Amino acid sequence: IFQERFSRAKMPAITEDEVKFKILANISSPKEAKIAFENGADGIGLYRTEFLYMNRETPPSEEEQYEIYKQVCENMQGLPITIRSLDVGGDKPIPYLGIGEETNPFLGVRGIRYCLQNKEIFKTQLRAICRVSADYEIRIMYPMVGMLEEVIEANSILAEVQDELSKEGVEYSKHIKKGIMVEVPSILFILPQIAKELDFLSIGTNDLTQYLLAMDRENVSISKHYSALHPTVISALISIIQNSDKEGLEVSLCGELARNPKATNLLSSIGLRSYSMSSPAIPAIKEAIRKMNIKENKISLDDIYKWSTLSVVKSKLQL
Ligand code: PEP
Ligand code: MG
Repeated sequence: IFQERFSRAKMPAITEDEVKFKILANISSPKEAKIAFENGADGIGLYRTEFLYMNRETPPSEEEQYEIYKQVCENMQGLPITIRSLDVGGDKPIPYLGIGEETNPFLGVRGIRYCLQNKEIFKTQLRAICRVSADYEIRIMYPMVGMLEEVIEANSILAEVQDELSKEGVEYSKHIKKGIMVEVPSILFILPQIAKELDFLSIGTNDLTQYLLAMDRENVSISKHYSALHPTVISALISIIQNSDKEGLEVSLCGELARNPKATNLLSSIGLRSYSMSSPAIPAIKEAIRKMNIKENKISLDDIYKWSTLSVVKSKLQL
C-alpha cells in the first residue's frame, strides 16, 4: 500500500483539463528533505534554515552549513531548492544571536532586518548557499522584507559574497535566483519597484495574515478571526498574483493555507499554480488537483469579491 501511495505521489499534479501545478515542500532539515522526496515534492519551496541555528551556543560555520545544504540537495535528488536565509526573531528567539528583549518582537529585529544588521552572520550563510549552487539548482529567499531598500542591500551583500568567491576561485552558479517572502503587507504596494530586483515571490500567509489583520498568529484568544481565508487576505492574494504575473515574477504560496485542499480551488481560481507545504500534505493536494477541472470549476473574481466576511468564505468553501 505504501509503495502504491508513494508512486502515485510522485506523479505530476495536472488537472483534468491539463493545467500543470507545482507542488513543493516546506522543510527544515536534510531528514525532512528525504521525506519530501518520498511524498512526491517537485522541489523545496521553503527551507527554513533557522533551525540550524537553534539549540546551540554559536552560529553554524560556513562548512557546517555547506554540508547540510548539500545533504538537502542530495536527498531531493537534484530538484530545485529554495533556501530561506535566517529568519530569526519574532516567535523564533535564538539567545546567542543577541537580539535582546524587545517590546514587540514581531515588529522588531526579525528575518532580513537581523541579517542586514549582522552582516558577518549573513555573509557566512550566503557563502555556504552560493557554494552549493555550483552543483545544484538553488534559489535564495529573504524573509520579512518590507521595503525596497532591504532587497537592494541584501542583493548587494550577495554580490559582494559572489565577488569574494570568484577572487578565491571558489565555484558557484552565476544564475542563482533571488526572491522574497511576501509576508509584510507593505510589499503589496511596491511590487513593480521590487520586481526589478527579484526573480520570484513566495507568499507567507501565516505572517501576512498576522500583519494584515494586526493579529498575533499565536494568540488563541483571537484565533477565531485569525484566518488566511479572511476576505482581506484573499484580496491581498489576488493583488499579489495579478501584479506578479504583470511583472513576470514567479509566485508561489508557502503558508499553512497551501496545505488545505478545501482552499485549492479558490487559490487556483485566482491564478496560483505553485504551492509549498509540509510533506505529509502533498499526496492529498496532488490528488485534489488531479480531480480538478479549471475550466468547469473556476470561481470568478466577481464572486470571490462578494465573499465579504470570514463566515461567508467558510460556508462557500465548506470549512
Ligand atoms: C509564513 O509566514 O507564512 C511562513 C511560511 O513562514 P514562517 O511560518 O516560517 O514564518
Ligand atoms: Mg513567516
